[in-house]
Amino acid sequence: MSETLKGKAIKGITRASRRYSEGRVCAHPECDTKLSIYNKREYCHLHAPVKFPRVRGRILPEGSG
Ligand SMILES: [Zn+2]
Repeated sequence: MSETLKGKAIKGITRASRRYSEGRVCAHPECDTKLSIYNKREYCHLHAPVKFPRVRGRILPEGSG
């Protein structure tokens, strides 16, 4: 079985690509999702903060006034 992996083994990973610490998990206290070494975020996909700020203001009723 291991021969299959051998054949697909990636060769020539010598370039020092930007990597982050290995074996990191989601920063969420109750989440153990492993993060990719290329993922600069501290949270997994589920707990990652939303890029755009969510408008959480009060919605003014229409036709007020
Ligand atoms: Zn998470």
